[in-house]
Amino acid sequence: MNFCSFHHESMVWQQKARLRIDSESDDGPFQVLICWQCEDAACAAACPVEAIILDQQTGAWVVQEDICVGCGECVTACPYGAMYLDETRGVSIKCDLCQGAPECALLCPTKAISLERVI
Ligand code: SF4
Ligand code: SF4
Repeated sequence: MNFCSFHHESMVWQQKARLRIDSESDDGPFQVLICWQCEDAACAAACPVEAIILDQQTGAWVVQEDICVGCGECVTACPYGAMYLDETRGVSIKCDLCQGAPECALLCPTKAISLERVI
């Protein structure tokens, strides 16, 4: 989460991370909340201003922040808990695959994260 927020926002702030780790205790079990870049993206379908666009090159659904009005419909619609509202900026945030080279996958010390295309 720290790599993610630093890459996107130049700050270590878990509420700015696009990937989140959920757990009931420090010992786990741990649940990773991450965007699956769905073929039929519920977040994009729910957006009333069509602010979530598919990047054809990377396969990532990307929030156009200049169009987003911060309504939170996408946050409610995502079945994986992978959309968040950035309350300081009034826009939604989600994983954009870091232009095709996700920092989390590059930096994970145990290589627990990888980027794979499922056809
Ligand atoms: S944010 Fe949720 S609904 Fe949208 S593409 Fe990612 S996993 Fe799918
Ligand atoms: S928060 Fe932004 S991206 Fe999400 S549904 Fe509303 S306008 Fe669309």
